[in-house]
Amino acid sequence: MKYVPDATADRRFAPNNTVDRESVDGLLSELDEYAVEQALRIKETSGNPEDVRVTALCVGPEKGIDAVRKALQMGADIGVHVTDEAVAGSDAIATSLVLAKAVEKIGSPQLVMCGMSSTDGAMGVVPAMLAERLDLPQLTLASVIEVLDDQVRIRRDGDVATEDIGATMPLVLSVTDQSGGVRYPSFKAIMAAKKKPLETYSLSDLGLDADEVGHSAAWSEVVGTTERPPRTAGAIVNDEDGSGAMALVGFLASNKHIRGAVEHV
Ligand SMILES: Cc1cc2nc3c(=O)[nH]c(=O)nc-3n(C[C@H](O)[C@H](O)[C@H](O)COP(=O)(O)OP(=O)(O)OC[C@H]3O[C@@H](n4cnc5c(N)ncnc54)[C@H](O)[C@@H]3O)c2cc1C
Repeated sequence: MKYVPDATADRRFAPNNTVDRESVDGLLSELDEYAVEQALRIKETSGNPEDVRVTALCVGPEKGIDAVRKALQMGADIGVHVTDEAVAGSDAIATSLVLAKAVEKIGSPQLVMCGMSSTDGAMGVVPAMLAERLDLPQLTLASVIEVLDDQVRIRRDGDVATEDIGATMPLVLSVTDQSGGVRYPSFKAIMAAKKKPLETYSLSDLGLDADEVGHSAAWSEVVGTTERPPRTAGAIVNDEDGSGAMALVGFLASNKHIRGAVEHV
């Protein structure tokens, strides 16, 4: 799960065109809360929840520990935070490398669960890259998940069809925001989270060198950014003389939001 700048804040790019992560508060990516929620549900409905451990893993800056804490408050059992100055500026390829090494260090998980996309970089490719690096099957963009013994079946909703896909664990699974509501941590859970194990790894703990990650090792680079122009004022339809409905329909028709309606009103 990723620590991202708060999407409701005023987000900016740094002078080198990377996302300015310092000037804005961060949080656990909302799309990743769905992955945490589904991991917890799989644990709770497994028949032997005491034997199932959910580990929350985040590769991110120092403040990224907040994202790990949030997952622990939601109910994850163990937190792992990979943080190292050299990782800053990594692209998705390097991020997936660090994540894969961390997953291997954590152990041999049956399920590696991710969100569908981060709310900042929004590449949507890290889960697939992780599957490739770990040499595991991938089930991506799941809106419904069923686990039976070592079999996982998912539903993936596409534009023209809904697919039912299955694979045998261990595997990488990414979940969408359609997979079900996300729980709020209770006060009791927030207090309990303070006692849960939380580990921090650096690059050397994962056997990685600084030159394998970071800005200099990135395959792609943002070479320029242009701020979107501020929104212009919207059209105001006045209905004082009863002509508002026609004016509204005319506006929608002239913007091609509706067709053929003007003649029928
Ligand atoms: C410490 C650090 C600092 C960075 N600083 C910058 C920067 O200043 N500017 C910049 O442009 N880029 C930076 N990056 C790179 C950027 O965050 C990566 O490109 C990104 O992690 C992967 O792309 P994405 O977020 O679009 O992933 P997506 O493919 O959209 O993510 C899909 C899913 O993969 C998982 N995931 C993705 N990233 C992580 C992660 N880091 N930890 C855990 N799970 C993850 C999540 O579940 C997410 O929902 C940094 C990366 C790190 C690790």
